[in-house]
Amino acid sequence: MFHHFHDDKHEPAQGSLSKTDFKNMVHWLGNKYSLLGANEYTEKCENGTLNSSDICLSFDDALKCQYDVAVAVMNEIGIDAFFFVYSSVFTANPDYLEIYRYFRTSTFDDIDEFYEEFFEISQQYHPKFSKHKTNFIKLNYLSDCPFYSENDIWFRYLRSQHLSLEQYQRIMSKMMSVKKFDTEKAKKHLWMTEDDLINIHQSGHIVGLHSYSHPIQMKKISRSKQKIEYQKNYEHLVGITGNPIKAMSHPCGEYNQDTLEILKAMGISIGFRSSMSTKDIKSSLEIPREDHANVFKEM
Ligand SMILES: [Zn+2]
Repeated sequence: MFHHFHDDKHEPAQGSLSKTDFKNMVHWLGNKYSLLGANEYTEKCENGTLNSSDICLSFDDALKCQYDVAVAVMNEIGIDAFFFVYSSVFTANPDYLEIYRYFRTSTFDDIDEFYEEFFEISQQYHPKFSKHKTNFIKLNYLSDCPFYSENDIWFRYLRSQHLSLEQYQRIMSKMMSVKKFDTEKAKKHLWMTEDDLINIHQSGHIVGLHSYSHPIQMKKISRSKQKIEYQKNYEHLVGITGNPIKAMSHPCGEYNQDTLEILKAMGISIGFRSSMSTKDIKSSLEIPREDHANVFKEM
């Protein structure tokens, strides 16, 4: 599972890979596992003939850096991959998740400087902050993501467990206005265009669902709203590729039984989680994935 890449246009982000890193990784993976193209992987999954050593490459969130760095390498090597795309990126109102990440990584000297400001402001908005910190230390939260620092984990814990979306957005807006951050410029820099997606599709890669607005916790959303998330995403991607969509990955690895039933009814035959916390393939819509940062450490 790949997210961020860097080159002379895209600044390094936490865990991002260069073109050379990516080439070396594909080579390393090919030696260690049976590295399949996404089309072959899907076919074997549908036929129930996947071997335990079979792996494939997947890219989440339609990031422009993936298009600029990784797509050319794969087209050169001749391997196809999955691209899981959430649609709000292509509207005037994209989800702010990635913009916030870009703000964090591009505006501060280092991530801990960002965290310090964030924790300070969130303490003002959130009186129970210190009590949560005590609980958090006992929790062993995100222990399946060893590449996160303690601040990374505390930030993610606060954001997903204790701040409402409005509280979180208020804190981030305040921080962005203080730093005079240009949101419009950031949008153009961060995401692929629909033409990029058409190129990806025409080069033989598989474009798949990743919801409409990329909710952080899909399993907490009602069944009817989940259905809208995936239906709008489906219609958007069919409109771009002209083909039925068969593949997906769960945003932030979050789903429940409703999600799986909705996807099945839509004809989705292959779906991916976002961690290796369960190593077995529980169902064809719950295939575990290893984060590229973990692979990079292992190399
Ligand atoms: Zn995602």
